Amino acid sequence: MIFRMMIIPAGTDVKLSITVELFPRTGRLLSDARERSMDEKTNTDSEGSSVANPTVPITGGCLCGAVRYESVAPPIAGFYCHCTMCQKNYGGLFQVTVKFAGSTFAFSKAEPIYYRSSAFARRGFCAQCGSPIVFVYDGNQDVWVLFGSLDHPEDWPLTKDAAWGRTEHVSIESKVPWYEINDGLHQKTSESIVSRAAAIEHSARSR
Ligand SMILES: [Zn+2]
Ligand SMILES: [Zn+2]
Repeated sequence: MIFRMMIIPAGTDVKLSITVELFPRTGRLLSDARERSMDEKTNTDSEGSSVANPTVPITGGCLCGAVRYESVAPPIAGFYCHCTMCQKNYGGLFQVTVKFAGSTFAFSKAEPIYYRSSAFARRGFCAQCGSPIVFVYDGNQDVWVLFGSLDHPEDWPLTKDAAWGRTEHVSIESKVPWYEINDGLHQKTSESIVSRAAAIEHSARSR
């Protein structure tokens, strides 16, 4: 605010044009960031936990924008999957997903192309840019969405005290050994349904 008041009264046409160009952009962004920061702080202080943004639909898509999706309901749960198939598919240390109920989730633009990664699961990616987007099981309507494809991943903290849903590490027996998990989240081996299926996938793919 001080910046604007000092510049505008003193400005020539040139200075004014610089002010007009800079202030609306930086001012709005700073304001939005400040409001969001205050909201998050308030939520954290009052609840003692992270609170998700309830705004729906939840939207997202691939890097190039060809594939877009939305869900009319928030995600149900979060996963850090350390199985070797997810490492390959995502090209990372682990793959992070949030699970949506299939009844609430739909593609709003182009649909992904699916790679059948096992006899009972498929992984969807964008045909244009290659971004991995979803993981689905045959006969299961639920959709595991790649976390980074969300338009606002910041709204869904994958933390121990998150109020919106539970997140856990799965298939930790395949975790890259030097990577240490220090977030306090529950850790599962392939005993869980999801990670067991992933392990079976891995086993099938390794033969
Ligand atoms: Zn794309
Ligand atoms: Zn996995």
